[in-house]
Amino acid sequence: MKMKIEKQNKKQACKIEENAVYINGIGPFCEHPRKENCWIYNGRMPSSNCWIFNKDGKVEIHNVIVYNPLIRKSGHGRAMISDIRRAFPQSHIWVDTWNCTRPFWQKMHHEGFIDSIANDYSWPCINTTCMICHPNRSEFRRRVFQ
Ligand SMILES: [Zn+2]
Repeated sequence: MKMKIEKQNKKQACKIEENAVYINGIGPFCEHPRKENCWIYNGRMPSSNCWIFNKDGKVEIHNVIVYNPLIRKSGHGRAMISDIRRAFPQSHIWVDTWNCTRPFWQKMHHEGFIDSIANDYSWPCINTTCMICHPNRSEFRRRVFQ
């Protein structure tokens, strides 16, 4: 029975745009084709987007991407995260952070856009050329090329 209601709601939401919803006027959030409870926020495309996992009154933000590296650090990420807060004013919004993105998320936490940073441990990102997350590797490379 519960499933039926959810499906009906989803159908209604889909009237606005194919496979997309607006939450408190913020959107579109497009349902991820494969992941459960996962929505892709495209309201700031083409400059940036991110994923959210929305479950049990909690919102986890994932995969924040600002596409043009030249416009990073000029408020695009902040604007997008403030959108997520406006879409989910009552939810607990949280993230896991890589070492290189932690200062950004600390700022977002300070501004009240997110409620918590989950990981308190060091977590290097997957980009092995990132000097913040992989300082030893970078030093090793420099030695090799000298
Ligand atoms: Zn990094």
